[in-house]
Amino acid sequence: MYQHGVLDFLEDYPGMTIGPSRGNDITLKGILKFKAAAKGMPDIEDSYSLSIIIPYKFPFQLPVVQEVGGKIPRDQNYHINPDDSLCLGSPLRLLRILSYSPTIVTFVEECLVPYLYAVSHKINNGGSFIFGELSHGQKGIIDDYLELFGLENKTQVIHAFRLLSFNKRFANKQKCPCNCGKRLGACKFHKVLNQYRKIAPSSFYFEQLQNVMNC
Ligand SMILES: [Zn+2]
Repeated sequence: MYQHGVLDFLEDYPGMTIGPSRGNDITLKGILKFKAAAKGMPDIEDSYSLSIIIPYKFPFQLPVVQEVGGKIPRDQNYHINPDDSLCLGSPLRLLRILSYSPTIVTFVEECLVPYLYAVSHKINNGGSFIFGELSHGQKGIIDDYLELFGLENKTQVIHAFRLLSFNKRFANKQKCPCNCGKRLGACKFHKVLNQYRKIAPSSFYFEQLQNVMNC
């Protein structure tokens, strides 16, 4: 029950409480108050009524956050997923952030609050969504992976996830995704993939492979 630093989170965010959960997931709900500033941007203090589900397999399965106060407009400009959860970034980018500190507080401070800051900024001032790194929707996710892997197209990204879902020895004998014409083990691109192997098991990449193929 008290995993992933949930007690630290409740202490830092006293408006939030533990709600009824399904199975081994943790449900957190209530008012999340924050004060934040993006680089070169003004301080914003605001609050949102949220439901946050922390999956049992966190961080290898990422939290699902819903805004339940009706404050965030439900349109594409605000990065809301089709299932009404908040679109905080690609799973791999979020996992990379969490890999050095896989706690709920890190998730909230470094993945969720930057998103909420961008929402508040847009509600208050209009203009574009300054969250920046990820454009909306599946095309945004693919673009994000192109950048994270340093690859050029979706076919290469799919191949990279496929190799990450294999064991390292087998993957190194396959064709490299970077179009060098060599096998992975003979190209320096294998170092890029090895960094990602360190932060998640092959099962995580197998799941991402399914998602990316459906993009
Ligand atoms: Zn290569």
